[in-house]
Amino acid sequence: MTKNTAEKTKKKLGLSTQIFIALLIGALFGVAIHYWIPSGYIKDTVIVEGVLYVIGQGFIRLMQMLVVPLVFCSLICGSMAIGDTKTLGKVGVKTIGFYLVTTALAVCVALGSALLINPGRGLDMDAIQKGTVSDAGEATSLVDTILNIIPKNPIQSMANGDMLPIIVFALFVGIMLAKLGTRGSVVANFFSQFNDVMMEMTMAIMKIAPIGVFCLIARTFATVGFSAFAPMLKYMGNVTLALAIQCLVVYQILLFVFTRLNPLKFIKKFLPVMGFAFSTATSNATIPMSIDTLSKKMGVSKQISSFTIPLGATINMDGTSIMQGVAVVFIAQAYGIPLTMGNLATVVVTATLASIGTAGVPSVGLVTLAMVLSSVGLPTEGIALIMGIDRILDMIRTAVNITGDAVCTTIVCHQEGSLNREVFYK
Ligand code: ASP
Repeated sequence: MTKNTAEKTKKKLGLSTQIFIALLIGALFGVAIHYWIPSGYIKDTVIVEGVLYVIGQGFIRLMQMLVVPLVFCSLICGSMAIGDTKTLGKVGVKTIGFYLVTTALAVCVALGSALLINPGRGLDMDAIQKGTVSDAGEATSLVDTILNIIPKNPIQSMANGDMLPIIVFALFVGIMLAKLGTRGSVVANFFSQFNDVMMEMTMAIMKIAPIGVFCLIARTFATVGFSAFAPMLKYMGNVTLALAIQCLVVYQILLFVFTRLNPLKFIKKFLPVMGFAFSTATSNATIPMSIDTLSKKMGVSKQISSFTIPLGATINMDGTSIMQGVAVVFIAQAYGIPLTMGNLATVVVTATLASIGTAGVPSVGLVTLAMVLSSVGLPTEGIALIMGIDRILDMIRTAVNITGDAVCTTIVCHQEGSLNREVFYK
């Protein structure tokens, strides 16, 4: 192959394709290591916990590094541009409304499918690896979750990476800058230029996404293998099926009904972001890539997405609430505790609230599951049953979590008249 043709082929392979090839080869490579290379210094220390871990985590850190400054600046710019509090309030109420409704729908899909499939019936409890519930940490109470929205100290919230208080503070700053007009122009320009710097940095870091994704996936499969899954296949299949229904049916119907956009095109364009969420299991780290993809490929205005995407990554976890819905039925059946209609209704409410309280980082869904289980009197020890295999499900549900944010954002953007359909159909 001449140098020119080689260059052309390289150019043709877009970033999305590269990420998918990396996902696939990474998974195969991980499985191969798990089964074919015997445990020892080379496999455990050098490959899995050395090269794969360092590069994978390094990549997640690079993305995380962007989140706080990017969300802060782009939110200030967005709210400043929207300007009046009335429109902002309207977008906010609509978005939160959509988020809550889609989460409640998600729990219904989960409960419905679990009651048909009966994932916990006839379970061989001994065959399942048990962990300890205390490993899952502690959930924050509902009252604290609400109060924590208001930052006592915005700098501290930024240092801790707490999204909701950062969102509140940034919205305030943006609104005040809009109010000040030319008197605040130096500060306004600063934030808008800093925002450009962050977006540029996002694109630069995304270029190495395929390598990062490869290492993350390879390490997961090299560590877990398939053996842990066997006794839990029914539960895993149930969660995966409910996630697929939510992502491929519920969201796409909503998208089509509200915007008339082509759902297949939407999925195709959003797939790389889903692949990224899948490999990192972290909604938060996906924020920069989501905002970028929505604006460049779907024509969604950044003014809206810079507000709704970080908000969604923090409070809208449809995938997580699906896992929790199925887990409730699974644990109830495994322990032989019957669930009443009243119990099921309670689960819809508590799982929706738990989704708000779940942070967009790996495994937190398991922690907030404790709140859902106790709301209907199920033993929280049941979490230990599903802990061993949660990592893979965490990856799938994170992809669904962020797809829900993107669908709601696109719908709200369309309703506000700021969706560029030409970009979407380009
Ligand atoms: N990993 C999920 C996310 O980041 C949260 C969870 O369900 O544990 O969206």
